[in-house]
Amino acid sequence: MAYVLVINSGSSSVKFQIVDPQASASDKPFVSGLVEQIGEPQGRITVKHGEDKWVVQRAVPTHTAGLQEAFRLMDLKGVGPTQIELSAVGHRVVHGGMVFSEPELIIDPVVTMIRDLTPLAPLHNPANVDGIEVARALLPHVPHVAVFDTGFFRALPPAAALYAINAEVAEQNLIRRYGFHGTSHEFVSSQVPELIGRDPKHTRQIVLHLGNGASASAVANGHPIDTSMGLTPLAGLVMGTRSGDIDPGIIFHLAREGGMTIDEIDNLLNRQSGVKGLSGVNDFRELRTMIDNEDENAWLAYNVYINQLRRFIGSYMIALGRVDAITFTAGVGENDQHVREDALENLTMYGIEIDPEKNALPNNGPRVISTDASTVKVLVVPTNEELAIAQKSAAVAEKARAAGLY
Ligand code: ADP
Repeated sequence: MAYVLVINSGSSSVKFQIVDPQASASDKPFVSGLVEQIGEPQGRITVKHGEDKWVVQRAVPTHTAGLQEAFRLMDLKGVGPTQIELSAVGHRVVHGGMVFSEPELIIDPVVTMIRDLTPLAPLHNPANVDGIEVARALLPHVPHVAVFDTGFFRALPPAAALYAINAEVAEQNLIRRYGFHGTSHEFVSSQVPELIGRDPKHTRQIVLHLGNGASASAVANGHPIDTSMGLTPLAGLVMGTRSGDIDPGIIFHLAREGGMTIDEIDNLLNRQSGVKGLSGVNDFRELRTMIDNEDENAWLAYNVYINQLRRFIGSYMIALGRVDAITFTAGVGENDQHVREDALENLTMYGIEIDPEKNALPNNGPRVISTDASTVKVLVVPTNEELAIAQKSAAVAEKARAAGLY
């Protein structure tokens, strides 16, 4: 059996998994690991395999040092990428701009193009490139593949993708709706037709990816029609620490009247807002406990979150015309029955009716949670971005091999 090493390289951390691309979404990866606090005085490398967990505490000055140390640790335990059969290395790349829609075999010009997209994702794309370069040096004989978080939404129709701002300014600055979490929206939406017994070419659906980051999409017959994230992942739904959509005038107001710098506003909206900004916590389990203890701010934060979610559901129902399925996924969407219930409360007149008993079942694989009478099927489908990246990377690698490139 051939595995795929999936690397998600962030600004100060690298997450990685060794995944069997044939596995199901709920299977644990063969190996998973994390390099944290890169560039800080004390770093940490964690590797998990089955019930075993190994941790090394030491300074990790660079991504190179971090991945080298992680590889060394995996080798030491007999689960290193060079000790198993590896068919591909899949790299999560945040921004593919207008250039990339499909997963791409990584050759030197592809790395240059990803680097050239840095202005669109100043924190993420350079970190992604670091991960790619280190991994290519460590595993030069395996095909490396870039899978783009924006890829699925590259096909958004212009009416949904364009912002109504001066066209010249927008073009010069590459401003448009790119959308994110594309791998998850594609992975989840592609499973829905079979789960509800419909032809994928005739399935109109809404996907709600509710994790720490959160996004919604409308997908018609396999193609994206709209999505809630925009030029950046700050837009759309209320999230753990991100505001989601706000009046853009708030930014000018904070700069002019609030005396804040652009960096301070960026930090405020990305890290100190959303559910955390309103309640003090960003984890939904903590928020729920606070609500149970009648904390008023937690209740308010929850209501703002649900209100914004319902706004998007409503507008996507109109965009799609007919809706066959609404699907919840990611940490909150898969686990929090109250969010699902409240997001779709009182919509029976639109053919949407959750079955309370099915909704209350614990998270256990893909499932329908609507009543038989509900014309719109409501589902929970666990996402697994690493598995999706592994599957896409394995397919690209196979083609590269068939073409004699490896
Ligand atoms: P990320 O965007 O970081 O990938 P996840 O999809 O892992 O996020 O989702 C993280 C969120 O899921 C957190 O807010 C967490 O509280 C929430 N979550 C996880 N498990 C549960 C649960 N059992 N009940 C409610 N919320 C949960």
